[in-house]
Amino acid sequence: MDLRCCRFCQRQFELSRFHPEQTVCSDKPCQRQRRSENRKQKLALDAEYRPVCRDSARKWRANHPGYWKQYRAAKPNAVKRNRTQQQQRDLRQRLTDLANHNLALNLKSCAAGVWLLGPATTDLANNNLAATQVFILQGSPRKPVLREVSCKQHPSGSSAALA
Ligand SMILES: [Zn+2]
Repeated sequence: MDLRCCRFCQRQFELSRFHPEQTVCSDKPCQRQRRSENRKQKLALDAEYRPVCRDSARKWRANHPGYWKQYRAAKPNAVKRNRTQQQQRDLRQRLTDLANHNLALNLKSCAAGVWLLGPATTDLANNNLAATQVFILQGSPRKPVLREVSCKQHPSGSSAALA
């Protein structure tokens, strides 16, 4: 009897002799997580699978008009949670875009002890010896960056600056 540790719940499970590559136990939450990961991976790697999934969801929505409106009305907590998670995804994407579209060649922590913030410090900031830059990321919603632009990202940001 071969025992293996589940990569999700960390519990030991008995390995099936028919599936020697098995890394996840048969518990429902672990299997659900495994399927979800597989689907995300397939969506990321398989260019033909993406439009198939998109069209399938589109057809389903066309055959079930009003479903999502009723769902949102019935589950306000889910709506709230989804909104919060979407805001976090948007923020993460904005930070990624910012990191890929700035002129800084070397992002690292700075030992400067004085930071001047706010619009009133413009003249002061131009006439001091502090060798640091501070990026202030505001939380207000912003027009999303076009995805075509992000496909041309360069690690150094230098090509984006020339465009
Ligand atoms: Zn498990």
